[in-house]
Amino acid sequence: MGETIGFIGLGNMGQEMALRLVEAGWPVRVWNRTKEKATELVKRGATLVERPEEAVEPGGIAISMLADDAALLEIFAADGPVVKRLGAGGLHVSMSTIHPDTSRRLAKEHAEHGASYLGAPVFGRPNAARAGMLWFAVSGRPEDRLRARPIFEAMGRETFEFGDDPGAANVAKLCGNFLIAAAVEAMAEAAALAEKSGVGAAGMLEMLGKTLFACPVYQGYGQLVVKRKFEPAAFRMRLGLKDVELAISAARAVGVPLPFADIARNRALAGINKGRGDWDWSAVSLGAAEDAGVV
Ligand code: NAP
Repeated sequence: MGETIGFIGLGNMGQEMALRLVEAGWPVRVWNRTKEKATELVKRGATLVERPEEAVEPGGIAISMLADDAALLEIFAADGPVVKRLGAGGLHVSMSTIHPDTSRRLAKEHAEHGASYLGAPVFGRPNAARAGMLWFAVSGRPEDRLRARPIFEAMGRETFEFGDDPGAANVAKLCGNFLIAAAVEAMAEAAALAEKSGVGAAGMLEMLGKTLFACPVYQGYGQLVVKRKFEPAAFRMRLGLKDVELAISAARAVGVPLPFADIARNRALAGINKGRGDWDWSAVSLGAAEDAGVV
């Protein structure tokens, strides 16, 4: 593989995604606030750097997989060292789940230094990332989408393009996570009904996951809802709340009511207040079980 990639953010997702690039033969320089998370990657051939700007090459490719908008805006600050070093011909492929307007703002600010920006959020949890089975939603300049294609191919099974607006892919991602939130709440309520009626929730969800709802979200999250094993988290509830709030905010900006998102927000907020913020997002299903008196 050709150019060195600077990978910034090695959380649950970033560690697995960067590993795919290393395994595919890309030279990868990694940076993470908590250095220890780079240990496995370094063993496998990545280079750990001290500061985020040291991860990127002038005119090269930077990938970010940070928790949220605030972290991304801090590290890729308008006149900060990372964007300056990336500079003319540089490309930032931004994979976190963030607000569409954050992508639009970053694209403009990067352009002032001659650098490009792609919104490229992902679908799939860390196990899918490990297996190179992510799905990417991508938007930004066509030539940048083309340049980044081999990266998406190393990490994912399919890429879906959403045009030139760098925020468009983030809208698609937020729609997806809103749908997951609604599905988890619906499954949790149905499971509570089954359980309190003396019917096995696992059997009920297994039947529906093989028939009317034969899709990864109902099958994967359905298992999590009935098993009630929420630690260690693959996707933390705090981040789930962040995503639902982003969907609500993006919807508010265009005047769209999202009543199901309000329910999902309340569930996640209540879960965090009960000390479950670092449990898996699927633990929001405990809310419906608690309301029904089955846990
Ligand atoms: P995570 O495990 O919580 O990791 C978050 C990353 O952001 C870590 O590298 C963390 O550094 C870094 N970070 C947070 N605040 C920072 C700050 N102020 N300055 C510097 N670094 C900071 O999250 P994740 O599950 O990997 O998710 C990453 C992104 O992908 C999120 O936007 C999430 O919504 C999205 N996503 C997650 C999944 C999933 O299943 N987990 C799936 C699709 C999309 P430290 O290691 O130092 O804490």
